[in-house]
Amino acid sequence: MKNKIAVIGAGFSGIILSNMLKNFAEVKIFEKARGVGGRMSSRTKDNFNFDFGAQFFIAKNPDFKKFLEPYIDKGLIKSWCGNFAEIDNYKISYQRPWNFEKNHFVPVPKMNSFCKELAKDLDVSLQIRVAKIKKNDHLWQLFDDHENFLGEFDWVFFAIPSPQLFDLAPEECSFYNKIKNIKMLGCFSLMLGLERKLELPFDFGLVKNSIISWISSESSKPDRPNFASYTILARNNWADHNIEGDIELIKQDLLDEFIKIIDQKLPKILHCDIHRWRFANIAKQENSSSYFLDPKMQIGACGDWFIHGRVEAGYLSAKRLFENFNKL
Ligand SMILES: Cc1cc2nc3c(=O)[nH]c(=O)nc-3n(C[C@H](O)[C@H](O)[C@H](O)COP(=O)(O)OP(=O)(O)OC[C@H]3O[C@@H](n4cnc5c(N)ncnc54)[C@H](O)[C@@H]3O)c2cc1C
Repeated sequence: MKNKIAVIGAGFSGIILSNMLKNFAEVKIFEKARGVGGRMSSRTKDNFNFDFGAQFFIAKNPDFKKFLEPYIDKGLIKSWCGNFAEIDNYKISYQRPWNFEKNHFVPVPKMNSFCKELAKDLDVSLQIRVAKIKKNDHLWQLFDDHENFLGEFDWVFFAIPSPQLFDLAPEECSFYNKIKNIKMLGCFSLMLGLERKLELPFDFGLVKNSIISWISSESSKPDRPNFASYTILARNNWADHNIEGDIELIKQDLLDEFIKIIDQKLPKILHCDIHRWRFANIAKQENSSSYFLDPKMQIGACGDWFIHGRVEAGYLSAKRLFENFNKL
């Protein structure tokens, strides 16, 4: 009989891991959000679309490059080409076009389309937050926020940010003491829909010496609607410091700073929204493992934060966890 495995979290890492496991085991994923994708999320409001988590990803590792190939061939992932700028102290300090040579990948038509495609043959239970796991004889029992029983499993794999893992992992597991020192930083994503497009000398840019760290004109991404959608990301340290702050004040601070950076009057704002990410990015990486696996307890964990706060790292962590599980 096949092992029954629960994967907690349907972000990129959880989806990658589940796809690798599904040929060997009966896999069920639990995801607290309304959809899959986690920090590779997208939102559409009227004509405006926003990738309000990851903006793009790069593929340096040969395994990840190979994994992406069929999706690139099918046109589900394309290169983001346009004018990139670095903005330092409110001035453009460096500029260059991004082209096909050094690929900055984005899924089309939205960032979360890739996760949806990868999850299409998986058994995912949405809007279920796993709140407790406990061992009964040799099986793991899972429960939601209301103490509802979610099932029994031979193995449990977590694919969630480290602070959330610390809340859920059993104290007896071999990696428990390592988790508490792995801190993640927050972020705010400001989503602006304007009456017309801004006239900017760049399509997307890295911002330095500011409470803003990144600006994207969403319509410069491939296969996006041609509307004036802008995603503006806060600097992680500033966001983390203000993470419990009044969201309206934070929105205004980011908007004021954006206007200062672009140095022009904003067209009429038709949409303005903000998302608070409590765990967006890894603080400082001191963890030497790229996954956790406790064969005795039949429990493990993967996620971008083991390596680097990037999509590629999520893939690599999931793959290494799978390979080591498969050797047992
Ligand atoms: C604002 C922002 C910008 C970014 N920019 C980039 C970028 O430009 N390039 C890049 O490569 N990377 C970027 N990243 C990082 C990238 O998004 C992640 O590396 C990637 O999405 C992998 O995430 P993951 O699957 O490891 O975790 P996540 O995406 O966080 O997935 C974890 C999932 O677990 C779910 N979950 C948590 N707890 C529970 C629970 N108890 N029960 C059930 N479900 C639970 C969550 O809802 C979530 O869906 C960015 C992230 C953010 C937030």
